[in-house]
Amino acid sequence: MRREVEQIAEWIIASKKVVVFAGAGLSTESGIPDFRSPGGVWDRYDPEDFYFQNFLSSEASREKYWQMATEMYEPMKKAQPNLAHLALAEMERFGKLDCVITQNIDGLHFKAGNSEERVIQLHGTAMHVSCLTCGKRYDRDEIQERVRKGQKAPRCDDCQGPLKPATISFGQAMPERETQEAYHRSSLCDLFIVIGSSLVVQPAASMPLVAKRNGAKLAIINRDPTPYDNMADLLIHGQAGPIMADIMQNVRRGMEVKD
Ligand SMILES: [Zn+2]
Repeated sequence: MRREVEQIAEWIIASKKVVVFAGAGLSTESGIPDFRSPGGVWDRYDPEDFYFQNFLSSEASREKYWQMATEMYEPMKKAQPNLAHLALAEMERFGKLDCVITQNIDGLHFKAGNSEERVIQLHGTAMHVSCLTCGKRYDRDEIQERVRKGQKAPRCDDCQGPLKPATISFGQAMPERETQEAYHRSSLCDLFIVIGSSLVVQPAASMPLVAKRNGAKLAIINRDPTPYDNMADLLIHGQAGPIMADIMQNVRRGMEVKD
């Protein structure tokens, strides 16, 4: 693994535009439970209730949704960025990071220090709530406070439309602007690094291909094998946090030598 770590550090130093694709592995390493794993929230709720169509059409579904969303929000709010998040923030400070395309909704990239314009949140964010009718955005904590006080399915102050955490639910369209932006940036980078994603959910999974087809190097750092492992120019199987910390240590050293 030593050789791989040094190699990817050299690529980062030599690159002008690094795009990082961050998956759920980053969140779980910060102690945010994987909600789909056994014993997770999904065991106690029926996923059918959380389809976007049901949220739109039934007050009972909206109430159940908010009940589950409230349960999921608590550990997310308490979570702290791990070494992998901090490494990406450092990459931005070094002027290497074009963007992080993230599947995570927990806001940890921002807590780590990445700026808004460097993070593309493909699945939205749990840190905000939006009105499905007029689009008005609210801070999540403000709305959770209303839920705590007894509102079961909160509504918009302006138009009385249903409020929903600004995440992408089952059956809800991917955000158009973010998805296009992610493809565009993928096509322009010279190094594409996948961290903590098994690359099985579309359209996200096709982004490494777009990068590779346009001449970028592809590196994959993930605990488990992915369907794209055989296409990768570099592959590390392991925990994202310690590996990224190690890589950035090499980058720091390499950049000092260069100066
Ligand atoms: Zn509204």
